[in-house]
Amino acid sequence: MNGVRKTYSTGVVEVEALRGIDLAIEAGEYLAIMGPSGSGKSTLMHIIGCLDVPTAGTYELDGTDVSKMSEKQLAEIRNRKIGFVFQQFNLLPALTALRNVELPLVYAGVPAPERRERALAALARVGLAQRVQHRPGELSGGQQQRVSVARALVTDPALILADEPTGALDSRSTSEILELFEELNDSGRTIVVITHEPDVGERAKHLVHIYDGLLRESVPVEAAGARR
Ligand code: ADP
Ligand code: MG
Repeated sequence: MNGVRKTYSTGVVEVEALRGIDLAIEAGEYLAIMGPSGSGKSTLMHIIGCLDVPTAGTYELDGTDVSKMSEKQLAEIRNRKIGFVFQQFNLLPALTALRNVELPLVYAGVPAPERRERALAALARVGLAQRVQHRPGELSGGQQQRVSVARALVTDPALILADEPTGALDSRSTSEILELFEELNDSGRTIVVITHEPDVGERAKHLVHIYDGLLRESVPVEAAGARR
């Protein structure tokens, strides 16, 4: 990401939510982005996640310049390249865990038998092999978030992007999810977590802070020591 700016125009006022962001996220990285309310976290997440495009600057995702793409092109890139994990899980309540995890593959046009196989593997990966026929309401918050991590993994994305992934979880489920992220990163997954919780930010390999639309510092966390 080079010189990324985002200006929102609402009638008379213009808000400069991002004021020139330079950020390189390597494959295999586990990065946390922390900042207070109003600092531009959601705006940055929307751009990283191809949910929105910058007003100025460039953003290249996995070798493709996505900064000027149409909404239709962005939707396809999102489905192929990014696995999203949200604070409120965003699971469909009427569907089983298995069906929820299959959904991104339905949109990608993957045939049913392969969908099922890949969804079962993703659910096993997050430790939910025994819960595949449960609906979200029959699972704990931590389990629901693990289903959504499985849904994020199932398309084999270039990047897992999590927005306040532990914001709705108790401390035990929080550590389960953070352990899962560490395992996934150890096996080569690229993970970006947006959070305002220092405990969550400090578990990542790298931590950057955002204030007032600008990245302020990049602190390498002592990798092994801090994480074990
Ligand atoms: P955070 O997620 O860190 O709380 P945001 O990215 O949501 O920060 O917001 C950054 C700034 O941009 C804030 O001043 C906010 O009021 C403004 N903003 C965010 N979204 C919009 C929008 N859609 N229209 C106008 N202003 C917005
Ligand atoms: Mg926000």
